[in-house]
Amino acid sequence: YKPDEEPDPEPYLYVSLEQKRIDATKPYDSKTACWVPDEKEGYVQGKIIDASNDKTTKVQLPNFEEKDFKKDQISQVNPPKYEKVEDMSNLTYLNDASVLHNLKQRYYNKLIYTYSGLFCVAINPYKRFPIYTLRAIKIYLGKRRNEVPPHIFALSDGAYSDMMANGQNQSILITGESGAGKTENTKKVITYFAQVGATGKKKAQDDGKGTLEDQIVQTNPVLEAFGNAKTTRNDNSSRFGKFIRIHFGPLGKLAGADIETYLLEKARVISQGAMERSYHIFYQIMSDAIPGLIDRMNMVKDIYAYHYVSQGKTTVNGIDDDEEMKMTDEAFDILKFSQTEKDDIYSIVGAVMVSGEMKFKQKGREEQAEADGTAEGDIIGKLLGIDGPELYKNLLKPRIKVGNEFVTQGRNKDQVYYSVGALAKGMYDRLFKWLVKKVNVTLDTKQKRASFIGVLDIFGFEIFDFNGFEQLCINFTNEKLQQFFNHHMFVLEQEEYKREEIDWVFMDFGMDLQACIDLMEKFNGFEQLCINFTNEKLQQFFNHHMFVLEQEEYKKEEINWVFMDFGMDLQACIELMEKPMGVLSILEEESMFPKATDKTFEDKLKTNHLGKSALFVKPKPPKPGQSEAHFAIVHYAGTVAYNLTGWLEKNKDPLNDTVVDQFKKGKNALLVEIFADHPGQSAPKEEGGGGKGGKRAKGSAFQTVSGLYKEQLNGLMKTLHATSPHFIRCIIPNEMKAAGVIDAHLVMHQLTCNGVLEGIRICRKGFPNRMMYHDFRHRYEILAPKEMRACKEGKDACAKCMEKIQLDADKYRLGLTKVFFRAGVLGDMEELRDDVL
Ligand code: ADP
Ligand code: MG
Repeated sequence: YKPDEEPDPEPYLYVSLEQKRIDATKPYDSKTACWVPDEKEGYVQGKIIDASNDKTTKVQLPNFEEKDFKKDQISQVNPPKYEKVEDMSNLTYLNDASVLHNLKQRYYNKLIYTYSGLFCVAINPYKRFPIYTLRAIKIYLGKRRNEVPPHIFALSDGAYSDMMANGQNQSILITGESGAGKTENTKKVITYFAQVGATGKKKAQDDGKGTLEDQIVQTNPVLEAFGNAKTTRNDNSSRFGKFIRIHFGPLGKLAGADIETYLLEKARVISQGAMERSYHIFYQIMSDAIPGLIDRMNMVKDIYAYHYVSQGKTTVNGIDDDEEMKMTDEAFDILKFSQTEKDDIYSIVGAVMVSGEMKFKQKGREEQAEADGTAEGDIIGKLLGIDGPELYKNLLKPRIKVGNEFVTQGRNKDQVYYSVGALAKGMYDRLFKWLVKKVNVTLDTKQKRASFIGVLDIFGFEIFDFNGFEQLCINFTNEKLQQFFNHHMFVLEQEEYKREEIDWVFMDFGMDLQACIDLMEKFNGFEQLCINFTNEKLQQFFNHHMFVLEQEEYKKEEINWVFMDFGMDLQACIELMEKPMGVLSILEEESMFPKATDKTFEDKLKTNHLGKSALFVKPKPPKPGQSEAHFAIVHYAGTVAYNLTGWLEKNKDPLNDTVVDQFKKGKNALLVEIFADHPGQSAPKEEGGGGKGGKRAKGSAFQTVSGLYKEQLNGLMKTLHATSPHFIRCIIPNEMKAAGVIDAHLVMHQLTCNGVLEGIRICRKGFPNRMMYHDFRHRYEILAPKEMRACKEGKDACAKCMEKIQLDADKYRLGLTKVFFRAGVLGDMEELRDDVL
């Protein structure tokens, strides 16, 4: 579209007047309207027929059937004026059914964004709505959140203005299940910032190819080509997490960017499920969009000739690999990759594919393997600039350093195939990391940076039938992010109450602190003590600091409000994972131990935690068709049973060092570079071989996958704690990728896992509804006209009104500028008002 021809975004942002009229005239009786659970819809609206029984209530269902429900199964319905509200924390009745109803109704009306207090909830439309155009951006530029309809642009603009006003770094945290729309929303956020912070000029040191804003946007095709793949859930699923920081100069113009990535799914490089595909780049190359490339690589234009990448789907509806290849190649140019670098990249990708075709044979069962043909090795040799025959030799009989001497070791067929796979995965993973590093060099403009906005696009909580090492890492991350959110929300609420000087008691956070101190003392002397505690310590320090400060305040205040510390349960789970002798620490320790096996790892976990940690439990026996699990962890989002088979091996991630050394001496400059930090044979250690625990000499410098990840995660948490955060929760509406369809149970499950419902539960403990005094006077003066008109101050008028209607003192608080209400109280106020009218 040309900007002036762009379609009008407003029908996708606002409820139409027509619809508002329909909603407002819906019949509603506050005394009988109720929500009751429903197998299919989640909840349906019923009519209370008889509430005289203490235990059950008789309700008429929409199909006029009458049914008894337990009292706690029934929840209240909000008045029609709340239909499709933009912020659900304003609802009079805050309950699960109302939240689901509101999200559903908005979604059916093409409104995909809704606030729930601090969260911005986004439901995947599975359709391109014209809400990300330049015309849409203009609606949000420089506007406050309450002036414009819910949108990630509103959130983004808020972050940008906060940054400009206070100079504080900001973060936007986007989480959700696979296919929920995280990456799409991330891209839109980045586009928004590229727009508001555009410099408009080509960089001086540049060769004229693209502005910084172009370059930031162009990192996407590259990262997606190498890090995205088709899965059953999502045709363009990112198989890695990422944190992009956009740096701004003192005047708010773009000044650079950097990207950190987390845990690329490596297994996919050599195996895929029947309905899945490997990383897009393999199919892009095989589309032959770059003339002569396949020939030059001595490969054939037939994806099925390469088993590693053709075990599932090889094409995806709606993805044109030919076109995408051109876009990837162009993005490489804009990001200033040289021709040689591009050639080397494609060669390494080709070598990964061809390595899956190397054939080996062996005579007896446990005998030395032999090469079965040499053609593939020759092709790989050419691609990687190494000697083909030597590659076979190194794979078949690697050299191991024992003391000061090298001895060769035999390998059977399975072991050789295993190490070829490990090398292919290792090469690809290292290539991916290098791409990110290289992109970061380009995005580092060396311009003056004042502050940044970080955007985190990271996998949400996962509960599958089979939960392995990857799920543990993902769930651990989400646990931390949720804790971060709770903490943030807690602090903000407190600040608001404090600003308004309303009476409340602050719970003693010292309890929390004490638990941590106990733990520290108890485990003093253990290795790796400090890293794992960085976050907890920071948080505890903060809590304590705040507690002390607040104490002084209480003395002055009349105190009758108890705020629960809702971060506590998370804290316990995080400790179970990362404290010394916690799950991750035991994994680490076992990974270092030469004779450790899956069994010893399992035993050690159980000895330390079973029956001792409340959050570490025996898994339920598997249902038919489900795989066996070894232990379960009670995460905030639910209990997850984990299967620990192969974790030690995955965690050590061993490579054939003899081949690595050959790579390091090869002629493919990029291959040499990506293995530069690998010790190869110089480290006194041994390859893991066919899955048996590898021996590692003490003190050898190597980092486990979990160790590296924990370090990255701690770094991230530290960064986030120093930012002012904004939260987006993405929701997948159904599993058919269908537009306009809500699977109620699927959505409720996500609202539970992502903390939206938890946020509402916490909200209900405080004072979720609030109203400025002049608004209050305007609406409720009718309840006590004489008394209220006699008061000049809004606060006094409000107090008089409460006195007149005899509202229980615990149901509200009078702040300096506004009145705060407990959940549901506004509904009662409205009823009183209706009665008077
Ligand atoms: P996630 O990163 O959460 O796994 P994606 O962002 O890749 O999910 O979204 C999956 C697919 O859903 C996208 O490829 C796109 O087709 C669709 N989608 C997601 N969000 C939107 C949106 N806001 N507008 C249009 N389509 C979307
Ligand atoms: Mg994604």
